Amino acid sequence: PLVLGIETSCDETGIGIVRGETLLANVIASSMEEHARYGGVVPEVAARAHLEALGPAIRQALAEAGVTLGELDAIAVTSGPGLAGALMVGIGAAKALALALDVPLYAVNHLVGHVGADLIGGTPLETPTVALLVSGGHTSLLLVRDLVDDVELLGETIDDAAGEAFDKVARVLGLPYPGGPEIDRVAVGGDPAAIRFPRGLSLPKDLERHRYDFSFSGLKTAVARWVEARQDAGEPVPLADVAASFREAVVDVLLTKALAACRDLGVPRLLLGGGVVANRRLREVAEARAAEAGVALRIPPLSLCTDNGAMIAALGARLITAGRPPSTLGFGADSTLPVTEVQVDPVSPGA
Ligand code: ATP
Ligand code: MG
Ligand code: FE
Repeated sequence: PLVLGIETSCDETGIGIVRGETLLANVIASSMEEHARYGGVVPEVAARAHLEALGPAIRQALAEAGVTLGELDAIAVTSGPGLAGALMVGIGAAKALALALDVPLYAVNHLVGHVGADLIGGTPLETPTVALLVSGGHTSLLLVRDLVDDVELLGETIDDAAGEAFDKVARVLGLPYPGGPEIDRVAVGGDPAAIRFPRGLSLPKDLERHRYDFSFSGLKTAVARWVEARQDAGEPVPLADVAASFREAVVDVLLTKALAACRDLGVPRLLLGGGVVANRRLREVAEARAAEAGVALRIPPLSLCTDNGAMIAALGARLITAGRPPSTLGFGADSTLPVTEVQVDPVSPGA
């Protein structure tokens, strides 16, 4: 099926068009620069930016794909989780399109969409797989037995998301937003073992209750304290070492827990997704440790790891192929939509 996907859960306006699992267009307009001076995404600013970007992005995606609106078989849209006001802009547009074109509308889960990104390009996603989703808004470990109807949340962050930790530590180090690329840049030549920063929720007593959960706020505080102590002592702050050591702590805890899940559950596959996958050290260590553990590692191309509409379109196409009914037109935005709900508000069969 020819599906147009709309993604507006955070600061990217993403419009993707797929034919089945073939990518035809993936247009992304980001309002990240507008958030830079606040050091993080401002919901109201993001929602307004989506409103302005959506129309042109849809036009551009159609042109790139070489298709017309009339040829579309269905519309897919992110209905949650994410920023409510931002989601509403995409949902409104999706409903209007589906009504006007008289095509089915699929309201889907953003996090499962990140997993669906791996469908694109033809090699089918093998299940079961463990998926580690790391971005500015979430840090979640999933067990995907079946993309369409069996996704389980193994664990998630109990405070800051991994990308958020990069952004906050960057601020501590006097670096601009977004922090991830900045930390990567500054860490070049730094010693990742110079400072032993804490690995959140990794002590035996924490592992009992939080085996697959993450915590990054203590790490951020530890970095801030370390830097302050240096400054108070009038000593220079070794930026490269601090950045490399901080990054190592994040990468280490993410992969230790993800690979522990693979081992515990006997699932020899790990999929990575989310904007933090842009981190070079994360990819490097993931490849080495997965190989060592005999786990097959999948990392979609970066343009499909950060928020985008193509992954939403691909998940919609998969729901159609699986024979799922479309969503009703009555659904809303659910900022805390659980990952078990792959599709929102499906029309009941026979209705
Ligand atoms: P969502 O959480 O809904 O997916 P988001 O917009 O916060 O939305 P992304 O756009 O996927 O998430 O990713 C942005 C985050 O990724 C930011 O926190 C940014 O600092 C982080 N990031 C980007 N590049 C890197 C990098 N090289 N290393 C570490 N983190 C990075
Ligand atoms: Mg973003
Ligand atoms: Fe995302």
